[in-house]
Amino acid sequence: MSSLYARDAASNAGLQKLRFFPQAVVGGKGAMLRADDGRVLIDLSAAWGAASLGYGHPALVAAVSAAVADPAGASVLSSANAPATALAERLIALFPSDKPQKVWLGHSGSDANEAAIRAVRRATGRQGIISFSGAYHGCTIGTMAVSGHPTLASEKAVGLIQLPYPGADPHGSDGETILASLERQLAAAGPDTIAACIFEPILSDGGLFVPPPGFLAGLDAICRRHGILTICDEVKVGLGRTGRLHAFEHEGFRPDILVLGKGLGGGLPLSAVIGPDWVMDCATAFAMQTLQGNPVCAAAGLAVLDTLAAADLPAEAARKGKALMAGLHDLAQRHTCISDIRGRGLVIGVEISGVETSFPSDAAATAALMFRAYELGLVVYCVGPSSNVLELTPPMTITDNNIEQALSLLDQVILDLVADRIDKTASASFVGW
Ligand SMILES: *Cc1c(COP(=O)(O)O)cnc(C)c1O
Repeated sequence: MSSLYARDAASNAGLQKLRFFPQAVVGGKGAMLRADDGRVLIDLSAAWGAASLGYGHPALVAAVSAAVADPAGASVLSSANAPATALAERLIALFPSDKPQKVWLGHSGSDANEAAIRAVRRATGRQGIISFSGAYHGCTIGTMAVSGHPTLASEKAVGLIQLPYPGADPHGSDGETILASLERQLAAAGPDTIAACIFEPILSDGGLFVPPPGFLAGLDAICRRHGILTICDEVKVGLGRTGRLHAFEHEGFRPDILVLGKGLGGGLPLSAVIGPDWVMDCATAFAMQTLQGNPVCAAAGLAVLDTLAAADLPAEAARKGKALMAGLHDLAQRHTCISDIRGRGLVIGVEISGVETSFPSDAAATAALMFRAYELGLVVYCVGPSSNVLELTPPMTITDNNIEQALSLLDQVILDLVADRIDKTASASFVGW
């Protein structure tokens, strides 16, 4: 019988794939995945942050099992259901405002951002959007049109103002220069044509850049002055991962609209938009999906939020992130190919460049590194416009022991990389995205 990976290659569409090595998985527990060849791998990605509690967490198993055994219908579209209502109430309580708020529930970061963009345009009567180069907001036509990640090359939205993200700008613009340029572009466009500004509190797929202090608060102040709504896309880095419940809490401002996804469902498809009622109620039968507010997925979301609070996962993420970061800085002392380490809590980017072997590019060296890591028992993916930044977003429940093991495996992988001991032909078909 052929391997799981070969069967997947023959049956699952390439359209949905972003592969870095021939990973084929049959089960998981905690931060560990079990491959079809019986190996056990430490998952430093957590499926891009979705497995926020790790795999098979007892709270998630119990909540989902109960909800699927006695389902409160299947959706919130044409009926109230208990888990979806409880989840919406909880999300509002966790993102307090002195004005009334409502929640839209979806299945993915893409559908949530799409709904948010459509809603702000409808509610304000304005079309224009401000966004950032390198930003990833989703893979639907609407979200691609406001994204700036190179893989999402598509027609940009009409009236889009796209700014460089500080740190990620090839021209080196700093935060103040970028905000000054925004003011000029707003004056030219007429600020009353702009509905909203959508941004990531840490530019993630764009290369893992933490904004300089004051930048997002400055952005928020400009938007506020012009009646432009702010949409904080915390799909990847939200819900505890940065060391605070919400990533914007590090920045000293509160966005108008918060978008959650990935980790909210703990591995089940679930997303949410939380915003002022005048936006979220501006129309009915407007942003519909048959299975939105699905009670099984909503129950998973509630279990995630319960566990975040009960186990104080934001504090855990801060503590473990510190340990991981310290270990990585130790590695960087010994390995010059680690050119930068950035991040906050358990959102960490490790930039790889200048490997002094025969790799044609930093992307090719990074691909070889990820391939070798997988061979040695580590799952880690890369981001960035040059595909040379390892992204570490492990489950917040990862054990200290797993972190130590992962660091020692990474050390070995980099030794193999610089000593040119990695099979280049095997990794060559996995370069970049
Ligand atoms: C992953 C991601 C999305 C898209 O979420 P999907 O669940 O893949 O649709 C949107 N925004 C950010 C910041 C993301 O990281």
